[in-house]
Amino acid sequence: MKYLAPIAAATLLAVPAVGAAKDWKFGDGELPERWSLENSAYAICDAGLMQSPIDLSEAKATGNITVTTNYGETAGTLAVADQKLQVDFPAGMGMKSGDKMFNLIQVHFHTPAEHAISGERHPLVAHFVHATDAGELGVLGVMFVEGDENPALASIADALESGDGTELTVDASEMIPDDLSVFRYMGSLTTPPCSEGVNWHVVGQTMEASAEQIAAMAGSLGPTARSIQPLGNRLLVAPSE
Ligand SMILES: [Zn+2]
Repeated sequence: MKYLAPIAAATLLAVPAVGAAKDWKFGDGELPERWSLENSAYAICDAGLMQSPIDLSEAKATGNITVTTNYGETAGTLAVADQKLQVDFPAGMGMKSGDKMFNLIQVHFHTPAEHAISGERHPLVAHFVHATDAGELGVLGVMFVEGDENPALASIADALESGDGTELTVDASEMIPDDLSVFRYMGSLTTPPCSEGVNWHVVGQTMEASAEQIAAMAGSLGPTARSIQPLGNRLLVAPSE
């Protein structure tokens, strides 16, 4: 367990505060949201050149980039709000990417998935949000397609019936595939304040969830995918075959 270091205070400031009054909404996933018009603190959402999500088919480079995790069964706390479905984790789990160790903070979901592939989006994505001890953010995105029921999502759905603040036991390793080859680029949070400097890792291999599970997630969240942002001059590396 190499990831046990406590999360730095700076990290907590970098992630949107839980319970803060929400003054923005996801759009239709196609037309760009204009969150800076709602709140000038969100200026970078519209002015930034390193925003997320993007279309992964724009990758012009391939590479064998994989991450490793020590995800396992743990206690978590459900956080539910308007357009939000999230499980907060205690310290102890994390992800290694290159020479960086990221501590897992929470996993949340979007319906449909935010990153697109040639304009198409999978119906569900899990975003595992991490930070290094120095406060650098790293997200691991896992997209779901319709298929067999997923046991971890079943645990989360059970907790959802009891609502915000429910304690649950969930095995985060059940929500990631064996092959953690990733699309890798530098981007942003996909919700205000759209902070940049986020180390994005979108797993190429998809997971399965049942049609009922996807429908339950979509019913709780509603449309929660930000519009696709320009890749610009950024390097995007796709998994090699
Ligand atoms: Zn997300």
